[in-house]
Amino acid sequence: MNFLRRRLSDSSFIANLPNGYMTDLQRPEPPQPPPPAPAQRQPPQVPSAGGFFSSISNAVKQTAASAGLAPQTAATERRLRHLLVIDHPQIDWAKCFRGKKVHGDYEIRVEQAEFTEINLVAHSDGTYAVDLQMVRNGTKIDRSFRPDFVLIRQHSFSMAENEDFRNLIIGMQYAGIPSINSLESVYNFSDKPWVFAQLISAYKKMGPEKFPLIDQTYYPNHKEMLAMPTFPVVVKIGHAHSGMGKVKVENHYDFQDIASVVALTQTYATTEPFIDSKYDIRIQKIGNNYKAYMRTSISGNWKTNSGSAMLEQVAMTERYKFWVDACSEIFGGLDVCGVKIVHGKDGKDYVIEVMDCTMPIIGEHQVEDRQLIADLVVNKMNQILPKSPIPSPQRPTATQQPQGGMLKDSDQTKIPAQRPPPQGGPLEPQGLQSDRQQPLQHVDSQRNHVQDALIQQQDPSTSTFKQPHLGRSSSTTGEVETQSGGQPNVTQKAQPHPQLNKSQSLTNTFSFSQSSFFRSAGSQDEAKAESIRNLRKSFVGLFSD
Ligand code: ATP
Repeated sequence: MNFLRRRLSDSSFIANLPNGYMTDLQRPEPPQPPPPAPAQRQPPQVPSAGGFFSSISNAVKQTAASAGLAPQTAATERRLRHLLVIDHPQIDWAKCFRGKKVHGDYEIRVEQAEFTEINLVAHSDGTYAVDLQMVRNGTKIDRSFRPDFVLIRQHSFSMAENEDFRNLIIGMQYAGIPSINSLESVYNFSDKPWVFAQLISAYKKMGPEKFPLIDQTYYPNHKEMLAMPTFPVVVKIGHAHSGMGKVKVENHYDFQDIASVVALTQTYATTEPFIDSKYDIRIQKIGNNYKAYMRTSISGNWKTNSGSAMLEQVAMTERYKFWVDACSEIFGGLDVCGVKIVHGKDGKDYVIEVMDCTMPIIGEHQVEDRQLIADLVVNKMNQILPKSPIPSPQRPTATQQPQGGMLKDSDQTKIPAQRPPPQGGPLEPQGLQSDRQQPLQHVDSQRNHVQDALIQQQDPSTSTFKQPHLGRSSSTTGEVETQSGGQPNVTQKAQPHPQLNKSQSLTNTFSFSQSSFFRSAGSQDEAKAESIRNLRKSFVGLFSD
């Protein structure tokens, strides 16, 4: 009894009970079934090692069944598709998917967590389980489930943050979980020079006029970093984000200093000519929805994503569209991607980087952009997931796990792994994350750097590009974005161009917990079942005290 009282006072234990269990506890006992007819009576059971526990278990199952718990769970689970969204909890992705269904009938259950809160196990027969361990609103959540699809919105690797979750990407790929973007591309994006190599291929194909890629030099380590022909240069060390590891170097002496730092980091580095820039352009593509933003430093930092900057939405031009479409084809296709351009005071554009589905969502259309990503995910789930659950080979290990504290139907948990199709298909929007928003500032709207025709976005799935040339700034209102601590705080408020469609977006939140990698799903289920048995056995006495 003391054990039971302790468990009931344990908030994490309660939180991880199946939904409605505590309510169920307080329901009256169901009427006892009539005694079976003599012909149906089973022979007396021979006591065995598990007899006592199994009888309790049966009693619990009977009670749960009579309370509608178990059958409801199975029925509910059969109508669900589980979506894992990897993102920080401030973004509520569950909202984005509310009311959305797969194949018209299956609700989407969103589980949201950060990489740090996730673990998984995957078997070669296609069974797998993702464990979530996290704290939400002061409550510890610990559960396992089997995602049918994954949306990845966080970097899986960053040297600056000392975070490396590529092992999880490998696990998801091992399990064959379909995703946006493809797991292959996400893994490929864990080294910037590796991505840049793709841009070099595009550059070679299209030439500098069509694809003005910035000059870059790659050093596998510090050893060859001996001299540079011209200065200033920008040295980019390793794989880091948000401006970290990017250093402007003015002369040979400083360059040698930086080379010595690279020696300590034991990673690669690249160098680029420093472009004396007027502003950056960020072109984003979510499926067939295109947007472009101009970012201008107002704090004097040569990195526009550091310090304070002004963000304005600008007209989508044919040229911008061409660049982002070209970049979206790398690694088999990117559902969601962005291209960074530095626009120099020399009037030239320089493509410096392509971003994947983890790119931050910026600007005033963040809600819309998240909705576009959600729609893209639903479209892809409809394309990829089977219309009905497919039983997969049973494995005596514990890959059948409760989701959201509810035991899953075995058919559901055993859906064979789905191989993600190549990305970049005809129409798949992809998503970005949003940065912190900051005070807006109007900027001079008369900047005259729109080079090409305005592209009108009409429908997220069927965007049309039209030619009316409008000064991009004529339609924009800038916002100040301030970034600190290496975190890009891009807040841009841009007046959307009248011809740019606003799309609708939903935001979801989901939470999931990660159980120990070494704890099998089966043992976890068993532990929960045992706890429930204990509760069942004792609650009558407890509440009658
Ligand atoms: P991310 O966070 O997207 O992974 P990052 O912000 O760490 O990347 P970059 O985008 O390469 O790294 O560089 C940060 C900023 O520095 C750019 O937005 C741009 O303003 C500036 N910048 C980068 N390269 C150059 C360059 N060669 N010349 C001038 N400015 C540059």
